[in-house]
This record gives sequence, C-alpha cells and structure tokens, in this order.
Amino acid sequence: MSETLVPRVGVGTDVHPVEPGRECWMAGLLWEGVDGCAGHSDGDVVAHALCDALLSAAGLGDLGAVFGTGDPRWSGAHGVELLAEVRRRVTEAGFRLGNAAVQVIGNAPRVGRRRAEAQAVLSEAAGGPVAVSGTTTDGLGLTGRGEGVAAVATALLLPVG
Ligand code: MG
Repeated sequence: MSETLVPRVGVGTDVHPVEPGRECWMAGLLWEGVDGCAGHSDGDVVAHALCDALLSAAGLGDLGAVFGTGDPRWSGAHGVELLAEVRRRVTEAGFRLGNAAVQVIGNAPRVGRRRAEAQAVLSEAAGGPVAVSGTTTDGLGLTGRGEGVAAVATALLLPVG
C-alpha cells in the first residue's frame, strides 16, 4: 500500500484570550451573553483547532502557513469560513474527512448546551462528522481563571480513490 493510500491522523490546538464585551463566536455559533475571544479573526478556537487538525493530517502545514496571520483577506474571518477553505484544500490534496473530534477547555461558553447545533455547523463545513465536547480546568490556569479559552482537536482523513 502506498503511503498516500492510508488513513492519516492530525492534531490541532488553539488558545485565545477572552476580551470582555466582544461577541463570542465559538464552534461556529454566536453565543449571546458570553464574552468572546480576541484575535486576528473571530477567535473561534474550536474552528481553528479543527482547521489545524485537518491540515496536519493532510500534511499541509498549519493555519499560520496557509492563511498568514498578517493577511488582511482573512482579518475578521469566521472560523467556519476558514474551515470550509481548509476542507477545499484537503479535498484538493486527495482526502476526505473520516471524522474529527474537538474538545473545548474553558469556563464559557458551555458548548454542551448547543452540542447538536455546533456539530451540525462544523460537520457541514468540514465535510464529515465532527464531535464537540467540553471541559473545565477546575479554576486552574488561564482557562480556569477565565483569561482564555482553549481547544484541542484531532482528525482522521481517508484517501480518496
Ligand atoms: Mg486561533
């Protein structure tokens, strides 16, 4: 079996600082009444971690390499838009998403409240099933103090053809 015809796993993580008063975009959804994350784009750590997991699995590098943190075209872009572009590139590279999983680490939002909605939006953008889960760090560290939100994702890509 050639190297290109085996399934490939990838990993991605992301962390952004919480900015009081900023709109919260997380897992492709707008969360009313929750402080959002600062960043070059919408600060959606879930979408960003998924993007990096897909790029990692496809051997296409990472978000910084693909989009460039200083590239004005992607300034303010929604994470789901980046994820759709990553899917396009992954498809172009000869893969489709087997499945992906992403875990949010932070105090808010509690993604479990809208899990089905989040999974539907992310799965549509990623082109395969995406599972969303969440956890806290019991008050420890930057996420526990509410200074930031983190996410970690893994993806399994399957070769096409
Ligand atoms: Mg990010």
